[in-house]
Amino acid sequence: MAKHDIVRAGNPVLRARAAEVEPAEIGSKTMRDLVRTMVESMRRAPGVGLAAPQIGVSKRVIVLEDAERLMATLSPALRAERGRAPFALRTIINPVLELCGDEADPAQPVFFEGCLSVPGMSALVARRLEVVVRGIDEKGEPVEWRASGWPARILQHEVDHLDGTLYVDRMITRSFGHNDEVGQYAAGLPTAAVRELYRA
Ligand code: ZN
Repeated sequence: MAKHDIVRAGNPVLRARAAEVEPAEIGSKTMRDLVRTMVESMRRAPGVGLAAPQIGVSKRVIVLEDAERLMATLSPALRAERGRAPFALRTIINPVLELCGDEADPAQPVFFEGCLSVPGMSALVARRLEVVVRGIDEKGEPVEWRASGWPARILQHEVDHLDGTLYVDRMITRSFGHNDEVGQYAAGLPTAAVRELYRA
């Protein structure tokens, strides 16, 4: 698959509620092929997460992976601020997310976020610091993962995809910008300074 086989905003599959994966589908060739294609597409992009609707398949399947090379340009301070650390590939089928903490808590993290289905753009999005995700893996084994920081952000972003929600629905709209411009004017700035810069 070519990179452009990741579908983009405007494709209604990104706005549908994806279907639960039935027990009979677990371990099937169709499901194995789906997961393999998703992992390939995510790595080729490259991205840190992908939901099945992003390759046009309206099923509740997500893959996530973060690697050292994808955060090589982030300073140790920025990595720490974002809670970003490498983690190995995870596949979660029928994920259910438990959001920890309080949505109104001013301490919830606000950072730039992008999406392979909205290429070239990013915006500030407030997310919960910590979540618990429960589901099953590609072998049908139960998965439970308590995640915080960047992995928690990725989980919230990907599970949103399964409900037809994109980060642009949650973003601080005035911070929305092209990566080239954001990189030039806002890279490395603390979130408070970014909000001041864009009056966001
Ligand atoms: Zn996305």
